[in-house]
Amino acid sequence: MSLKGKTALVTGSTSGIGLGIALELARAGADLVLNGFGDAQPALAAVRAEGVQAVHHDADLRRPGEIAAMMEMAVAVYGAVDIVVNNAGIQHVAALEDFAPQSWDDVIAVNLSSAFHTMRLALPGMRARGWGRIVNVASVHGLVASANKSAYVAAKHGVVGLTKVTALETAATAITCNAICPGWVLTPLVQRQIDQLAEREGLSAAQASERLLGEKQPSRRFVTPEQLGKLALFLCSDAADEVRGAAWNMDGGWVSQ
Ligand code: NAD
Repeated sequence: MSLKGKTALVTGSTSGIGLGIALELARAGADLVLNGFGDAQPALAAVRAEGVQAVHHDADLRRPGEIAAMMEMAVAVYGAVDIVVNNAGIQHVAALEDFAPQSWDDVIAVNLSSAFHTMRLALPGMRARGWGRIVNVASVHGLVASANKSAYVAAKHGVVGLTKVTALETAATAITCNAICPGWVLTPLVQRQIDQLAEREGLSAAQASERLLGEKQPSRRFVTPEQLGKLALFLCSDAADEVRGAAWNMDGGWVSQ
């Protein structure tokens, strides 16, 4: 399939799953707007190596004004945003009564509210052009819960609900909105949880990694950013024209239990 001539904006694409998705969209020919913290040069170089254009915007997704500036820049550079992938996410692990209110606000802002803002800003252009794709990276935690992840689970369930509403509001158009629900993927976000587990329990990194997978993911293998990128690419294809409001798990069997 070809996405040549299309522009895709992927939030949180300087590392991990977002970069994996950006690379698959680039391989299909889409020009990219990358976003995220840290040094964006390696991600920009990797995407450009696929023969497409790529720019980076460093919007802090906790701030609606910066999200608006990012969307404006995308239109100024490419003329349109055809594909939005709301991928950026952060995690904070603590029991509810110990959960810092600022951490709650940050997790909800990045993982949930930023998707509301990018979608509300991208939809008018998609409607005007008569085509669009929105892929929201939720999580298995959009479908089931785990202890000590109140804000994350609430935000991801919110993303799944927001995805369904958006799918209904665009159902009569060629714009689709779907969510992807990954299980464990070995990215910096999960590496931090492995490191904390190893330190807490006195385990080696390999033992902590096995423990993490063993508790939740029956395959005992990590899902990869490449696999998730290919699922996002499918959702952007014509074959997925009538996939609307799905919450598609790719989780090594996690939510089948
Ligand atoms: P990651 O930490 O590798 O990447 C997160 C990205 O978001 C980075 O580019 C980071 O700079 C960016 N980001 C964080 N806060 C931001 C902010 N305020 N403004 C702008 N960008 C910000 O994490 P990942 O594992 O690749 O996670 C990507 C998405 O996948 C998240 O939504 C996460 O919840 C979801 N997810 C991850 C897993 C997993 O096992 N890794 C599982 C299910 C869902």
